[in-house]
Amino acid sequence: MSISMKEYIDEAEKSLLHTYNRYQIVLDKGDGVYLYDLEGKKYLDFVSGIAVFALGYNYKDYNDALKAQIDKLLHTSNYYYNVPAVEAAKKIKEASGMDRVFFTNSGAEAVEGALKAARKYAYNKDGHTDHEIIAMNHSFHGRTFGALSVTGNPHYREAFEPMIGNIKFADLNDFDSVLSCVTDKTCAIIMETVQGEGGIYPASEDFLKKVRALCDEKDILLILDEIQCGMGRTGYMYAFQRYGIKPDIVTTAKALGCGVPVGAFLLNEKVAQNSLVAGDHGTTYGGNPFACAAINKVLDLFKDDNIIENVNLVAPYLESRLDELKDKYEFITERRGLGLMQGLVFNRPVGDVINKALSNGLILINAGANIIRFVPPLIITKENIDDMIDILDSCLRDL
Ligand SMILES: *Cc1c(COP(=O)(O)O)cnc(C)c1O
Repeated sequence: MSISMKEYIDEAEKSLLHTYNRYQIVLDKGDGVYLYDLEGKKYLDFVSGIAVFALGYNYKDYNDALKAQIDKLLHTSNYYYNVPAVEAAKKIKEASGMDRVFFTNSGAEAVEGALKAARKYAYNKDGHTDHEIIAMNHSFHGRTFGALSVTGNPHYREAFEPMIGNIKFADLNDFDSVLSCVTDKTCAIIMETVQGEGGIYPASEDFLKKVRALCDEKDILLILDEIQCGMGRTGYMYAFQRYGIKPDIVTTAKALGCGVPVGAFLLNEKVAQNSLVAGDHGTTYGGNPFACAAINKVLDLFKDDNIIENVNLVAPYLESRLDELKDKYEFITERRGLGLMQGLVFNRPVGDVINKALSNGLILINAGANIIRFVPPLIITKENIDDMIDILDSCLRDL
C-alpha cells in the first residue's frame, strides 16, 4: 500500500523545520504548465515555483542537457576552468549587456555578492569603512544577513537585529525620498526593477532615470535586483532593458536555472575593475558545470523557442482578462504588473481564494496578504489563461 498524502504531510510536520505554512498537498511531478500531486490530481500552475520554471515542467531538451552533463562532469572547484561556466557567462553577458559574471547558488547569495562588490568599490576610492547603502521600503532581497539588511520589511528583520549597518530606506517611485537619504557616504542604491514579494510594484521610468542620473553624478552604484522580474518575465530579458538605462550591478537567479538552484551577480566593467579581486569572494558550488549546463540550456531555449516572444504575445491577454475580473468584482481594487508578473489587489485577505483555487485545481500565490500574484511559466497559452480565469472566477463568485 502506498503512503498517502496525509501521512507524508504529517511526517513533514515532524521532521522539517516549520518555516513555511504549507498548502496541504504533496507535489509529485510536472509536465508543461501542469503539476500533479501524489494522488494524481492535476493542477494548472500559475506560480511556477515562484517565477522559476519559465520553461514549464519536464521540458525534454532541458532534461536531456542536464542528464548529459551528469554523465560528463558534475563539479569541479572554482580553482579550475570549466566549459559550461565559460559558455554560460558569455551568454549571460550577451543577454544582459553586462560585462562580468559571478555565479552563486541562490538569489540571496547573488545579493550578498552585489553588496560586497559595492562596498569594496567605495573602499577602494577612499579607504573608509563607513559607507551607506540606500534600499527601498517593501523590497525583498532574500533571507541571509546582508540581503535581509536591505529588505524593506521590518517584520522580516526585527528578531534578527542587528543587521549589517548603514542602510537607509527610501520609497520606490519617490525620488525625493531617495535624495533625502543620500550623503557623501552613500555607495549604492539597491532596488528590484519590479518589486515582487512586496506586492508587484514596477519602478516608474521617470524614477529609474532620475536615480540613474543621480548615481552617475555622485559615483553611487545602482544595483538592480532582477531575481524575480528578470529572465524574460516582463517581456524583456531583463526588466531594466525596457527603461533604456543600465545598472552597475544586476542580481539574477530563479528562472536562470529553471529548477536547478543557481544565481549570479553581473557587473559592468567599471565596477569589475575596481572592486572584488582574488581572495575577496568565493563559493564552492557556484558556477559548477552542472549548474552552468542548466543555465546554458535555458538561455539557448529562450532564443530557440521564442520564449520572450510568447510573453509579449500572451501578457496583454492576461492583463485584459484580469482587468475583466477587476471590473466584475468590487472587492478587487487594482491590477498591476508588467508582462507575466501581475498582481490583483483585493480589499481583503486572499488566503481563502488561493485555497479554494487549489482545491479546484489551480495553483496561485499571494504577494502580501491582499494581493494574488500571477507568475506562470512563460510558455503559457491564451487557452491556459482562459482556464485559469474560469477557475478563479468560479472561486470569486462564491465569496
Ligand atoms: C526570491 C528573491 C530573492 C531571494 O532569492 P533566493 O534564491 O530565495 O535566495 C531575492 N530577491 C528577489 C527580488 C527575489 O524575488
